[in-house]
Amino acid sequence: MSSTDIDAKSVARLAPTHDFSAKLRQPALLGRVVDYVDWQRRVRAAKAKGQAVPEMPEWSPLSINLDLTTACNYRCDHCIDWDILNSPIKYDFAKLKASLTDMVDRGLRSVILIGGGEPTLHPGFEETVHHLKDLGTQVSIVSNGSRNYRIFDIIDRLDSHDWVRLSLDSGTNETFERMHKPTKAISLDEICEWVPRIRKRNPEPLVGFSFIIVWDGAEREEGVDVVPNIDEIVSAAKRARDYGFNYISLKPFLSRRPDGSEVMDAAAVANLDHTVARIRAAVDEAKKLETDTFSVTESINLRVLEQGNWKDFTKQPSMCHMQPLRQVLTPLGLYNCPAHRGVDRALIGPKAAWADADARGDTARSTAAMLEGFDASKECSEVTCLYHGVNWWLEDVIRERAELSEADAIDERFDYFL
Ligand code: SF4
Repeated sequence: MSSTDIDAKSVARLAPTHDFSAKLRQPALLGRVVDYVDWQRRVRAAKAKGQAVPEMPEWSPLSINLDLTTACNYRCDHCIDWDILNSPIKYDFAKLKASLTDMVDRGLRSVILIGGGEPTLHPGFEETVHHLKDLGTQVSIVSNGSRNYRIFDIIDRLDSHDWVRLSLDSGTNETFERMHKPTKAISLDEICEWVPRIRKRNPEPLVGFSFIIVWDGAEREEGVDVVPNIDEIVSAAKRARDYGFNYISLKPFLSRRPDGSEVMDAAAVANLDHTVARIRAAVDEAKKLETDTFSVTESINLRVLEQGNWKDFTKQPSMCHMQPLRQVLTPLGLYNCPAHRGVDRALIGPKAAWADADARGDTARSTAAMLEGFDASKECSEVTCLYHGVNWWLEDVIRERAELSEADAIDERFDYFL
């Protein structure tokens, strides 16, 4: 197979990335989902009869966000994890590796190395990737690009089901510098120059250019302005294509509410119609740069911002079923969702929550308690949730308004990232 063949297939793979209901029906994941539905039905039946509820089995999530560190060498104004960065709290690395081994034994299929923090700053970054690939999980890396030599060093371990995404958000060195404020000087050019080398060394994993769209007047929190970049959507797309990225992904700026939840505050966008029209014109222009091997992707958030129906995605069922299926492991603890990373009431357990047999039992009980106690219809009522559709689908299945059995498997897509 040529690298061109791989590229064409890779581009085709991007569209279903956010179809989580379909992803959960892949043969490799469906068994767990069917078991979860069965357990939830038994819990609800027992509660209805006033009987003791069955305990949740010691299932690990199918997918995790793994924040290796909270350390970051940038000071991005638009960073939604600003409040949790550069904490002195660290993992016991041996325990972390043991946790990952145990989680894979219990069903973990994919790990996104991401932050709250820059994963390539962790001294054990390469060792973690090797460990996860030795365990057979899918691995993806979301990085600020400042240490691409470390990604270069492990890129051979990744395959066509894994991916790398660089958060760059700009089309020029000047805007990159203003938005990201690297503590040690590095330019957007220097970051992008690594991409052809990385792709030449191993063309199989997708390499993406992430672009958070910021409009005039956007604020991370009250009084903290963020550098606008709508005018650079097209130049960023051209840059991404010319440096050999597989795609550029465009998503709207999110901010954090005082309660910690991560939201798209469309109501706060000054002159919304005009702003949306400017974004649409730039995205349409960027799409003209697409080729067989380069695509321009729009996030669900961006689509619903344009369509004006973002409020529909903020109406969650009271029980969020993603909590046992996808969790966020950070040095600060184990959280129920990326949208509530670092928020106390979303904390399931400590950073060693999956480290040993005693911890596992507590973690299963805490996850079950979080399912009952974390009312997503209230806690996430401002979040334009990407898991909105899958959550309602699972709620319907549990209530037997929809069917689900092992016979409902779809063809394997080998995409286990949730
Ligand atoms: S409903 Fe959405 S935002 Fe809320 S916890 Fe679940 S996945 Fe996260």
